[in-house]
Amino acid sequence: MSSQPELAYVGLGSNLDHPVAQVRGALEALADLPGTRLVAASRLYRNPPMGPQDQPDYVNAVAALSTHLEAGELLAELQVIERARGRVRGAERWGPRRIDLDLLVYGELRIERSGLSVPHPGIAVRAFVLVPLAEIAPSLEIPTLGPIGRLLEGVDPSAVVAISDDA
Ligand code: ATP
Ligand code: CA
Ligand code: CA
Ligand code: CA
Repeated sequence: MSSQPELAYVGLGSNLDHPVAQVRGALEALADLPGTRLVAASRLYRNPPMGPQDQPDYVNAVAALSTHLEAGELLAELQVIERARGRVRGAERWGPRRIDLDLLVYGELRIERSGLSVPHPGIAVRAFVLVPLAEIAPSLEIPTLGPIGRLLEGVDPSAVVAISDDA
């Protein structure tokens, strides 16, 4: 824990066992983390899978947290939530999962160590991350990557569709 809170962004994704409920439940778990406040949550979005195509569509969202957890502590807590919510690690890269929590951005920090890269290296090319992130942080400057508006211009957001709240 550190005395000054940092603003962190977490990407959520699920495509197994009622993905909408999985993502909503994970948002509640994020709000319950020690030393942490859920500042904002995007709408939920549905989009086609990345990688292997023989799996269901994903539901994705992004949360903004104000947290006293250090980046490494936050990642460890994200992994605790994944395990507690029944994520099973399969052998296949980008295979189906109940819940995936990625630490996208942690303040102004750039971290490059085994097991933790921040900003998350996938951000720049993933519309399903950029669209919900821009919804809650439209003027975000992503360390090393630049303004989110410019990153959005480089991807095709057409397959990322907001799920209406009453869906
Ligand atoms: P991708 O990381 O490309 O989105 P993925 O989410 O499917 O793929 P996982 O199997 O969930 O990948 O995670 C693999 C490893 O990535 C984790 O064990 C974790 O240590 C590491 N990792 C590195 N940087 C991050 C980060 N910023 N957020 C989450 N995990 C990270
Ligand atoms: Ca809290
Ligand atoms: Ca991921
Ligand atoms: Ca992950």
